Amino acid sequence: MTAARSTVIRHGRILDLDGHRAPPADLLIRGEDIVEIGAPGMAAPDDALVVDASNRLIHPGLVNAHTHGHGNLGKGMGDRWTLELLLAAGPWISGNRMVEDKYLGTYIGAIEMLMKGCTACYDLTAEFPAPTVEGLQACTQAYADAGMRAVVAPMVANLSFIEAINGLNDALPPALQREVERLRLAPAEQTLKAMRAVMHGWGFDHGRIRPAVAPTIPHHCTDAFMLACLELAREYGVGLHSHIQESKVQVMVGRKTYGKTQTAHLQSLGLLGPDFVAAHGVWLDDDDIARLADHGASVAHNPGSNMRLGNGIAAAKAMFDRGLNVGIGTDGANCSDNLNMYEAMRLASLSSKVRSPDTSEWLTAGQVLTAATQGSARALGFGDKLGRIAVGFKADLVFVDLEHVNWIPTNDPTHQLVHTEDGSGVHSVMVGGRLVVENRKPVGVDLGALARKAEAARERLTAANADNKLLYDRLEPIVNSYCPGLAKQPYHIDRFAACHHAHGAH
Ligand SMILES: [Zn+2]
Repeated sequence: MTAARSTVIRHGRILDLDGHRAPPADLLIRGEDIVEIGAPGMAAPDDALVVDASNRLIHPGLVNAHTHGHGNLGKGMGDRWTLELLLAAGPWISGNRMVEDKYLGTYIGAIEMLMKGCTACYDLTAEFPAPTVEGLQACTQAYADAGMRAVVAPMVANLSFIEAINGLNDALPPALQREVERLRLAPAEQTLKAMRAVMHGWGFDHGRIRPAVAPTIPHHCTDAFMLACLELAREYGVGLHSHIQESKVQVMVGRKTYGKTQTAHLQSLGLLGPDFVAAHGVWLDDDDIARLADHGASVAHNPGSNMRLGNGIAAAKAMFDRGLNVGIGTDGANCSDNLNMYEAMRLASLSSKVRSPDTSEWLTAGQVLTAATQGSARALGFGDKLGRIAVGFKADLVFVDLEHVNWIPTNDPTHQLVHTEDGSGVHSVMVGGRLVVENRKPVGVDLGALARKAEAARERLTAANADNKLLYDRLEPIVNSYCPGLAKQPYHIDRFAACHHAHGAH
């Protein structure tokens, strides 16, 4: 199919999110774009390719506002991990990657997302000790090959996890202090130079795959490094994305380092703006929510990861009520083990409901679905092109099988997409008018061959990271007593009266 070729989708039912219904309608696509939505049987060019969507519910492709391509080779490796244990495990579960591993991990994630109805994502991808042009190119190529839209951001810092947490290094015995020296990141200049080279040589269509800059966690970055990231993002007109107030440990460290919240500190550095995404935000107070909202920033809400790592439940409803843009993310497979946006939506809904018996404090399913489409699209910087089925928007569409048991019967499509669908009802998926999943199979992908490649990589990486695993085993008991000790200190979150049940804060 050439770019100018038309496609007409007939006999489908198109989601009306706000109307909680899915009336029959036809869709005309030219190139990548939706150009007409009309009554069933509407006129279409004679040479248009016809896609039969009988018994299909068509919804906008879900958009994953926060994931990590490097995490996909690490799914299922941990169980009782806090965020801090996950960071300590990083060299073991993500170390010694060759360029082909970086491609492979990203590609596996892209295929999983597409098969589960997600057509675009914001990927914060890590390389150690610094990003490289070849590594970033490999990750980006994986999305291009999978046919998925993405924002790919090198996830960077200039302080290691051990250096970033006040007092943690001092808590290590001297022999271990010497050993963790090798976890040091590259000097800031090297990292910034590599990112600049990536931005400068970007060879991908910005409408499909864009770069961004992701200083990973504020206190893992010196202020000078943060400001250099900001300058780079402004120079190339790309987004900024950082993990903000994700764990209580981070909040305590942030307060000690800055004398204020991370959000307040980033505001004073000038980082907050419409291109800024705060990932997680579990421990945002009302002033932080207001700061982000007033700067037009976004939050990537990752309820699965927040529960999985014991970080708590973000006050997503309070964010909505304050007019802060909220997108939904799965986070990486190394800390939530799958990239299933239906599951993320379900957890976003349920976790808002577990906070209080007052239903006015709960997210509605419609709000959750809006967040996972339009909200996430805006966080990616694609708000005018993705997240809606409308003329002028990209034809990134998911065809759900109404004869799948999830849809028997179909009472309320908006509710059922959030509360019933789990990805198993996805029949086909289109990105930019091209089918990338057809009849439940990723088009042109040999999953058996992919499994064999991943298994070979797994075996090689397990051997290569054996010493990193041993280092983790020695760090684990220390991190697991030092960090919870920090988190035990009292911290009061001021919340609008309606949300006083905030994740046990006191
Ligand atoms: Zn993350």
